[in-house]
Amino acid sequence: MGTRVILSGMRPTGRLHIGNYVGALMNWIRLQNEAEAQCYFMVADWHALTTDYEDPSQVESNIEAMVMDWLSCGLNPEKVVLFRQSWISEHAELALILSMITPLSWLERNPTYKEQINTLKDKAISTHGFLGYPVLQAADILLYGATHVPVGEDQLPHLELTREIARRFNFLYKKSVLTEPQALLSPVPKVLGMDGRKMSKSYGNTVYITEEEKELSNKIRCMFTDPHKVKMGDRGHPNPCPDNPTGCMVFQFHKMYEDSKNAGSREKTCMEGTLGCSPCKKDLYDEMNAALKIFREKRKTIKKEQVAQLLKEGSEMAQKRASETLRRVKDALGYR
Ligand code: SF4
Repeated sequence: MGTRVILSGMRPTGRLHIGNYVGALMNWIRLQNEAEAQCYFMVADWHALTTDYEDPSQVESNIEAMVMDWLSCGLNPEKVVLFRQSWISEHAELALILSMITPLSWLERNPTYKEQINTLKDKAISTHGFLGYPVLQAADILLYGATHVPVGEDQLPHLELTREIARRFNFLYKKSVLTEPQALLSPVPKVLGMDGRKMSKSYGNTVYITEEEKELSNKIRCMFTDPHKVKMGDRGHPNPCPDNPTGCMVFQFHKMYEDSKNAGSREKTCMEGTLGCSPCKKDLYDEMNAALKIFREKRKTIKKEQVAQLLKEGSEMAQKRASETLRRVKDALGYR
């Protein structure tokens, strides 16, 4: 197998939570250690404008916080190219060219578009930019000749659209310029928040990956447990069941942070009523604190100037590859 070129990115939303870590970063860190992979990881700051164009004032500080978290978790800029989308003008230029050849119907059938329009009712996102963001995404991927894109099942239609756009370009201009990327399907476990809904900043139910001890302790104290288990001796329902449909959130977190043998005996003692919720929460605090402490300590060693410098160097490196692709695109069009 030749070298795989991998492209992925995150919108700058500030500090990362455990859902971001488990859903994407863990996979990025695994990929960076593959000898046969060249990874490009992007701060997708133009994408931040698609839904939050009315107030971009937090973008700079969000980028800084997010990249510091990337580094805290072990993303290594010596192994991967970390770059900022808006610093590479080729992204906007290729997106413009691709938007000329992308039929409107391809964008209108995008399931995420319809779903988001319904979900984000408080935001005026019936814009050209929001409808066309899959074209910008296609440009992000195609500029680097990415052979593989890590995606979850729900993002497959987006990647298919990128492949269709690449095919259409190559067909129209009779040159094989753009590479059709393959999906690198990885199971993306849905991480639930403290209240049993999907972990998300907009629900205020997150645990940050660099959460300080005191906040972590407060958050674990407030986690939803089994409402039927009030005192020691009551039998609990740690997993979802008709009596406790969301399950106990403390138990769901234990399953992520302790080995399956311990989780098995915890489930048993909870169901028998011999385990109390307070000691169970204390165990969770100890497990999570030990894991998050590593990220927290690493984060303290990272300087803001270091982040700016890394992004500058990474963006210069990425731009070399991007400008080469754009030159070939313009050649195919016959533009000088
Ligand atoms: S004992 Fe633990 S697992 Fe059982 S309900 Fe209480 S917090 Fe949840």
